[in-house]
Amino acid sequence: MRRDRSDELWRMANEHFVGGVNSPVRAFKSVGCAPVFIEKGEGAYIVDVDGNRYIDYVCSWGPLILGHAHPEIVRAVCEAAGRGTSYGACHELEIELAKRVKERFPSVELLRLVNSGTEATMSAIRLARGYTERELIVKFEGGYHGHADSFLSKAGSGLATFGVPDSAGVVKDAAAKTLNVPYNDISSVERSFERFGEEIAAVIVEPIAGNMGVVPPEGGFLEGLRELCDRFGSLLIFDEVITGFRVARGGAQELFGVVPDMTILGKILGGGLPIGAYGGRRKVMSLLAPEGGVYQAGTLSGNPLACAAGIATLDLLTDELYRSLESLSAELEAALSASLAERGVRHVINRVGSMLTLFFGVERVADYGDARNADVDMFARYFNAMLERGVYLAPSAFECAFVSAAHTKREIEKTLAAHEEALAAI
Ligand code: PMP
Repeated sequence: MRRDRSDELWRMANEHFVGGVNSPVRAFKSVGCAPVFIEKGEGAYIVDVDGNRYIDYVCSWGPLILGHAHPEIVRAVCEAAGRGTSYGACHELEIELAKRVKERFPSVELLRLVNSGTEATMSAIRLARGYTERELIVKFEGGYHGHADSFLSKAGSGLATFGVPDSAGVVKDAAAKTLNVPYNDISSVERSFERFGEEIAAVIVEPIAGNMGVVPPEGGFLEGLRELCDRFGSLLIFDEVITGFRVARGGAQELFGVVPDMTILGKILGGGLPIGAYGGRRKVMSLLAPEGGVYQAGTLSGNPLACAAGIATLDLLTDELYRSLESLSAELEAALSASLAERGVRHVINRVGSMLTLFFGVERVADYGDARNADVDMFARYFNAMLERGVYLAPSAFECAFVSAAHTKREIEKTLAAHEEALAAI
C-alpha cells in the first residue's frame, strides 16, 4: 500500500503544527509509523489522500455512531448552515437538542451546552466545587476527562494518592486537589472518603472506562460510588462523553441503573460536530451563571450546526439500531477471540455494546494497572499489519474500537480476513 501523498503532507504538517498534529495521539507515535491523511469518509470507510480505503474503527474517536457523512446529518448541517453558522444568541435547535437529551437521560433536569468534552468536565468540576463548597475531586487512574489541570494528574504509589502533575505547566496545587484511585476498587474509594470525605466535592468516573481501553465496571462498583457520595454529601459525576448514546440510548446510567448527580456528554451528542454538555439535578445546575455564582460562558456554545447534527443523529438512534450494533459487535468479538485462541495468542477482549478493546498478552483487564501490562509492541505490529490490509484501528493500545451503524457483516468479514493475514504476518 503506497502512502506517498500522506508522507508528503506529513512533512508539510510538521512545518506548521507542533509534532505535525492538532491532537497528540494523531501523530501515531506509539505505533511507530507516519499517520495517513484523510481525503474523505464514506459510511464505515475512510479514504486517504493516496486513494487507499480503510474500514474505520476510530469513527472520529466515537462521535460517528452512524458512520461518515450520513446523508441525513449532512442535510441537517447544510440546512442549518444556510440559515447562518452561529448567532451567539438563543435559538430553537438548542431546545430541541435539550429535549432529546433529557428524554434519554432522566437524571438531567437542566443542562448547559459547550463546545467540547474538556470544557464540559472542567465546568462541571467548578460547579461541583461551588455547590459543595469543597475542593477535592476523586478520579480514577487511567480515566480521562479532557485536559483541564485538575485531571492531568495520576496516582503515585499508595491506595489513594494526591495527584502530582502528569503534564508540565500544571500547577502543583491544582493536581494536589485530585485524589487518584484504582478503577473498580471500591474499598480504596471508601478509604479515601474515610480520610477526606468532608472535603470531597465530587467523584468523576467514566461509568464504562474507555481511555485505558474498554474496562467495564465490576458489579457493585458504580452502586458503591453512589452510596459513598450520598453518605458524605459529595456529587457523583458520570463522564459519559464516550458512553452517552453509545452503549444505550440513555448511556451507561441506563444500562446499569445508577443515577449520577451530574452527567457529561459530548461526541455522539454533536453527530461529528464540536459539542459538549453537562447537566444534572436542577438544584446543582441552578448555581450556574446567570442564575447563580458559578461562572461559565462560550461564544459558540449551542452552535446551530452542532445542534442540528446532534438532533439528526439522536433521532436515528432507535432500539433496533442498538440491537444490531450489539449483535454485529458480539460477532466481531467472538470471531477475533476464537482466532486468537486457536493460534495460542494470549489476549482478552473487553466489550460493552459497540465499544471494544483487544488487549494482547493479558487475560484480564479490570483497571489501569492491568491495562499497562498489555503487550504494546505486539499491538503496534498488529496495528501496522491491519492498516496495511485496509483496517484503520486507533493508533494506541489503550483506546476503544467503535463499530458504527454503517458497518455491516461484509465489513466484519473483511476485518476478520485482514486479522487472519495480519496475525500470520507478524
Ligand atoms: N471525557 C472522556 C471520557 C473522553 O473520552 C474525552 C475525549 N476522548 C473527553 C472527556 C474530552 O473530550 P474532548 O476531546 O471533546 O475535549
